[in-house]
Amino acid sequence: MTEEGPPPGEWHDIKSLHFKLFYYKVLPCTKAWSHDWQHCPYTHPNDKARRRSPLHHSYSADMCPAMLQNGTCPKGVNCNLAHNLFEYHLHPDRYKTKMCPAGYAAAAGAAGAAN
Ligand SMILES: [Zn+2]
Ligand SMILES: [Zn+2]
Repeated sequence: MTEEGPPPGEWHDIKSLHFKLFYYKVLPCTKAWSHDWQHCPYTHPNDKARRRSPLHHSYSADMCPAMLQNGTCPKGVNCNLAHNLFEYHLHPDRYKTKMCPAGYAAAAGAAGAAN
């Protein structure tokens, strides 16, 4: 039996948040035909749009200053800061800390009640 493409699982659903946070622009593209890289959720050999997997590299959601200044970082893949906009914007922490509107309302209500 041969495996074609990614194995089954929840991350296989490229529209899920799970895929977006952990696999978007992380997995190598397996499409052999030419296609629009920008709208493809996978990485491509000559494409700069790629991320280190948050599952295998622990980097924070803060942008690396060396990367911002020089476009390169001496620590490379071992750097513990985000190296590009994909790593920055799609960092799992960013989604965990984002409070939902109901959360804000509850917080505001609690603050009002304390007065
Ligand atoms: Zn692709
Ligand atoms: Zn860095």
